Formats: sequence, structure tokens, C-alpha cells
Amino acid sequence: MSEKHACPHCQTELSPWLAPPDSGWGEILVCLNNECPFYVGSPDNILNKGEDQRSLGCRYAVDPANNYQSFSLLALYAG
Ligand SMILES: [Zn+2]
Repeated sequence: MSEKHACPHCQTELSPWLAPPDSGWGEILVCLNNECPFYVGSPDNILNKGEDQRSLGCRYAVDPANNYQSFSLLALYAG
């Protein structure tokens, strides 16, 4: 567990984050940097977003249980 992973978009060290039980993930690693270019630009990349989905963004995340494969974690957009 000593291996460190950094976000390729902002070089911030990824933080462990326990996913909701119904997501099928265990503990994943997420970029929690609100200034991250990947995160900041993500609301524009979400297609078919409606009125109530404008506050959603995507954070960069990797899944340790899946060979640290990267994916977009849909999250509330705080910025
Ligand atoms: Zn980042």
C-alpha cells in the first residue's frame, strides 16, 4: 500500500475514497483537487445534462482493485 499515485492532469496525489457499497467498488483513489483541469472542465463534457445535473462533474479516479485503471468518477461539482 506504499505505492503513490498522482493525477496526470494536476499532479495532485490521489486520495483514498470509500465508494458507496452499491457502486460495486471498494476503496478507490480519487483526485480531490477542485482546481484540477480534468474536474473543472468536466461539466461541459457531460452530454444530455438537464437542469438538475448542472452541478455534476467528473473527478479523475483509479480503481486499485482493477489494476489501477483510471475512470471518471461522477461527483457533485463544487466549483
Ligand atoms: Zn487532478
